[in-house]
Amino acid sequence: DAKEKGENQVGFFRKELEIEVTKALMLKSDLELAIANKKFVAFYQPYVDKDRKIVGAEALMRWVKNGKIILPMDFIEHLEKTSYIIDAENQLIENVLDDLQSFKRTIPVSINLSSQSLMQRNLRDDLISKLEFHHLPMDLLKIEIVERTFINNFEHISDLIRELKKYGIYFSLDDFGTGFSSLYYLSMLDIETLKIDISFIRGIENSKTRNIINSIIFLAHSLNIKTIAEGVETIEQFEILKSMNCDYFQGYFFHRPMPRDDFGKILGNI
Ligand code: C2E
Ligand code: MG
Ligand code: MG
Ligand code: MG
Repeated sequence: DAKEKGENQVGFFRKELEIEVTKALMLKSDLELAIANKKFVAFYQPYVDKDRKIVGAEALMRWVKNGKIILPMDFIEHLEKTSYIIDAENQLIENVLDDLQSFKRTIPVSINLSSQSLMQRNLRDDLISKLEFHHLPMDLLKIEIVERTFINNFEHISDLIRELKKYGIYFSLDDFGTGFSSLYYLSMLDIETLKIDISFIRGIENSKTRNIINSIIFLAHSLNIKTIAEGVETIEQFEILKSMNCDYFQGYFFHRPMPRDDFGKILGNI
């Protein structure tokens, strides 16, 4: 009967919940181990200018798990729920700085920082001393942030951006156009670049979307901000974006994210 059926359903959902909880616990202990064993590394995706010359790169976090490479979509959310994200991002920064120090030639590399890392009291001094320790110029490191990382800590983050800029460490606004009040932030944050979200590039065939991209680029330039188009996958997208005067281009059409050794080789050949 109905009551019995209801109870069965409750039993079913409880079972489902148990499975979910077990999975989450397994992942948590996996992540703990990964932190302890320094399993978070950087893959590098170069970005280019209008002549397709490489001018910088983004360091994207990868989890090396039993020799396999795990992408952020499978773990970053879980890390960000805990303070482990701070440790993981610290490992990534150490990796990036070691790599940059070891390459014969270097270009600026940007890292993506979570709100936890951005809210650390000693972040500014920590970054500066890390760069000094590696004998690297400050402007080799850039920081990418997304709206959700500063929405609740606006004052703190805008001060941090201003402070770090004095030292030559510049910020980018990532995934631009997907948030709620991006225009307000644009007027208030002292950022160097704005990354036009991949969703606009994907829709570039559409004339309305093209108009939006055009306006974003015009707006950015009028505020002295450079633009990077994210997720450029075809020559057509590249050509349209160039005609719109976009400054830089990132995407599979040019380079995919790659391990440090491959990136080092590319740098050696620039
Ligand atoms: P994001 O910062 O917007 O990085 C761009 C993402 O787009 C990367 O995915 C990159 O591999 C991908 N991508 C680049 N070109 C193309 C393209 O032409 N087509 C398509 N479809 N995708 C492209 P990835 O590496 O999987 O990273 C996903 C997100 O994970 C990042 O988005 C960023 O939000 C987050 N993430 C990565 N590393 C870190 C980190 O160290 N800390 C934090 N907090 N988040 C990170
Ligand atoms: Mg990014
Ligand atoms: Mg992005
Ligand atoms: Mg993104």
